Amino acid sequence: RPWRATILTLYPEMFPGPLGLSLSGDALARGDWSLEARNIREHGLGRHRNVDDNPAGGGAGMVLRCDVLAAAIDAASGAGDERPRLLMSPRGKPLTQARVRALCAGPGLVVVCGRFEGVDERVIAGRALEEVSIGDYVLSGGEIAALTLLDACVRLLPGVMGKAESGVEESFEAGRLEYPHYTRPREWEGRAIPEVLTGGNHGAIARWRRTEADRITAERRPDLLGAAKHHSAKCPTVRG
Ligand code: SAM
Repeated sequence: RPWRATILTLYPEMFPGPLGLSLSGDALARGDWSLEARNIREHGLGRHRNVDDNPAGGGAGMVLRCDVLAAAIDAASGAGDERPRLLMSPRGKPLTQARVRALCAGPGLVVVCGRFEGVDERVIAGRALEEVSIGDYVLSGGEIAALTLLDACVRLLPGVMGKAESGVEESFEAGRLEYPHYTRPREWEGRAIPEVLTGGNHGAIARWRRTEADRITAERRPDLLGAAKHHSAKCPTVRG
């Protein structure tokens, strides 16, 4: 059965949004994955379908109610649903390509999008939500973060990317940033394509790419290099 994403949000009209286009959109149309955006407000309270309230202890902003959110989660994901339940949150564990790989290998996702100041802490424990961050900055809501997460997952589903290979050598896949790319014209504004890439020596090209990937990673993200050693020891399928 296809990889299945359920999104809980106050703005279901934001989905599929950009994921309805290009590779992910084609894959959605083919049924390689499915997307259901459910409105948390359907579980809101009273005539006005309230979903939020003032923060206990005072302070600015509003907090999504735990009872409302739990009802939305329970309606979307019943007993026997083995999909991981994530909460998009700047306090979460930063998303990595390794986590994306693991998520896309599973049955799908249930993703809760926060709004306002966030969600009542009790629902995080009460519904075993895994908090996931897409970076050290604050968005106004979890929807764009959820779209980012879904995009990263869906492109790795079997058959979604044009060439199976194009997922293997990318940034982070081998614990390094990717080498530079070039295409025609051979010379542009006085800048030429590095000679090795046009010489047809595949061994030399592979070595050049490996060296460039190492150089760029050392310059920009030296923190990745320790992880790279670990990764290549464990993952003999990565070539280069
Ligand atoms: N008051 C919260 C704090 O300081 O941590 C920020 C709340 S933010 C305005 C509203 C919602 O946007 C969050 O509940 C979360 O769902 C989402 N969000 C914001 N930044 C995010 C990030 N970097 N990664 C994932 N989700 C994020």
